[in-house]
Amino acid sequence: MIRVHAGATAFHYGQAAFEGLKAFQCQDGKIRIFRPELNAKRINKACHRICMPEIPESLFLEAINRAIEENVEYMPPYGTGGALYIRPLIIGSGGTIKLQPADEYTFLVIVMPVNDYYKSSWNYQPAIIVDGYDRAAPRGVGNVKVGGNYAADLLPNIDARKAGFPVALYLDAKTNSYVEEFSTSNFIATTKDRKYVTPKSDAILESITNLSLMDLALDESYEVQRRPIHVDEIFNNRFTEIGACGTAVVVTPIDHVYYGKQTLSLSKPDKPNESNIYQLYRRFRRIQCGEEEDKFHWLREIR
Ligand code: PLP
Repeated sequence: MIRVHAGATAFHYGQAAFEGLKAFQCQDGKIRIFRPELNAKRINKACHRICMPEIPESLFLEAINRAIEENVEYMPPYGTGGALYIRPLIIGSGGTIKLQPADEYTFLVIVMPVNDYYKSSWNYQPAIIVDGYDRAAPRGVGNVKVGGNYAADLLPNIDARKAGFPVALYLDAKTNSYVEEFSTSNFIATTKDRKYVTPKSDAILESITNLSLMDLALDESYEVQRRPIHVDEIFNNRFTEIGACGTAVVVTPIDHVYYGKQTLSLSKPDKPNESNIYQLYRRFRRIQCGEEEDKFHWLREIR
């Protein structure tokens, strides 16, 4: 619980930004956080965009370390597949009724244990392309993790779920023809000729999971393409696999994409191991929990 001025700019004018990252208990018993410096950079990009003071990286990292240390009993043990989810948050907490940045800010870190999404299986999900709503304007705030983006997504997301689609994919707001991202994850795809393809757009969040999967893909001799992706490429069967990637799930594999009257069905391999995206996902997860060498130096030990 926090006590905040009722006129706080976070409530009225949306001065609020957050981050999401995970800590893992590794095979050697040590707790490690995954690439927290990138979250520090990303929250500061958001702070700059919505006129909040930047958080020194050392303060950001120290706050995360302390939140983990003080809640270490909630850390899911190695082998369970779980992690401690870390949610740093900064809000304009100073009260003003004028449209202006607050004169006071509150920075908090919440932690909570989370399950492994894919404990029993690698779960394919159908996705729907959102029709009738946009997530982010081309020069708006879609590329920063500010609260308002998620408010804009609630209604389309609820509609998608009601229609039976757990995953909603947005196209660009200007032309409605280029793939942007899912509600809380980036779009990734692979091709028959070993390309890893992901959208380039100024209106999407730079996913740390995606950046890491791109490193792994390069390491596994994929050609990595970050480029505009026309929605027709999906329905013209350009991709053999499609996934949604982000901290929470790492990768959600997609088996169908619906858009108005168009449907794409992707063939699912009989065994997860035959999926290219699954192989990247497995390697990523093994590095996170210390089962494979951290050759990219992604992990930061906390105790
Ligand atoms: N895109 C959006 C809109 C998100 O909210 C998230 C989650 O943070 C992502 C992508 C995935 O980013 P990351 O891999 O850093 O969690």
